[in-house]
Amino acid sequence: MNDNKVKIISIENVTHDVKSLNFEKPKGYSFTPGQASDVAINKPNYLNEKRPFTFTSLNDWDHLEFTIKIYKEHNGVTKEIGNLKVGDELIISEPWGAISYKGEGVFIAGGAGVTPFIAILRDLQFKNEIGNNKLIFANKTVADIIRRDEFEKILGKNFINILSHEKTDKYEHGNITEGFLKSRIDDFNKMFYLCGPPPMMDAIEKQLTNLHVDENSIVKEAF
Ligand SMILES: Cc1cc2nc3c(=O)[nH]c(=O)nc-3n(C[C@H](O)[C@H](O)[C@H](O)COP(=O)(O)OP(=O)(O)OC[C@H]3O[C@@H](n4cnc5c(N)ncnc54)[C@H](O)[C@@H]3O)c2cc1C
Repeated sequence: MNDNKVKIISIENVTHDVKSLNFEKPKGYSFTPGQASDVAINKPNYLNEKRPFTFTSLNDWDHLEFTIKIYKEHNGVTKEIGNLKVGDELIISEPWGAISYKGEGVFIAGGAGVTPFIAILRDLQFKNEIGNNKLIFANKTVADIIRRDEFEKILGKNFINILSHEKTDKYEHGNITEGFLKSRIDDFNKMFYLCGPPPMMDAIEKQLTNLHVDENSIVKEAF
């Protein structure tokens, strides 16, 4: 496998615990929107600690971007990623991953599980092909919603939020249920894209099966 050493060019705080890292793009490097890479921090204690992260940039950009949730309380790689500075280096592998766009439908994400959909929806917008795609985004609170303004611009009324730990006038409160899906989706004969923590994915897959969604119409990746 071809590993590439890349320097961080800029870092942006996206939410209270999510950062976007912009870094150099190796010559000729490209990926399918939705794909990830195994990533190591180029520091002695971290070289063997590879973790997968999804590209949220477009192939057209002159640099690459990851959007990463930092687990500060947990002594893992993302905590160290939270301490990285411009000029520090990452080592990225060839792109891989299960999620890619297979036609118009409903994207359902939990938390950082939205990252493949950032790439796919940005790409569709860039190509003027956003159509009637919908994003259902489950988070704990408003402060956790990654790229809220951008999704509102790209998707308008097709950007649907649900919050488990905060009640607001604007967004649904609670967890995704069959009833909630039925209230927000008028056609289940479409593609469904799922990405989030395994318990959420299991629950939603069962709900979609009960709603007669063909399993071949479900594209998914657990984070
Ligand atoms: C294909 C793929 C693509 C991914 N893309 C992205 C992406 O673009 N952006 C992104 O943010 N994430 C992404 N992830 C998830 C990301 O890989 C993990 O969050 C990351 O590996 C965690 O690394 P870590 O060393 O910090 O945690 P690890 O030590 O590997 O811990 C594993 C898990 O423990 C859990 N954990 C966190 N805090 C605690 C705690 N205090 N106590 C116990 N458990 C805890 C978290 O769920 C964490 O994922 C992706 C995952 C996959 C499979």
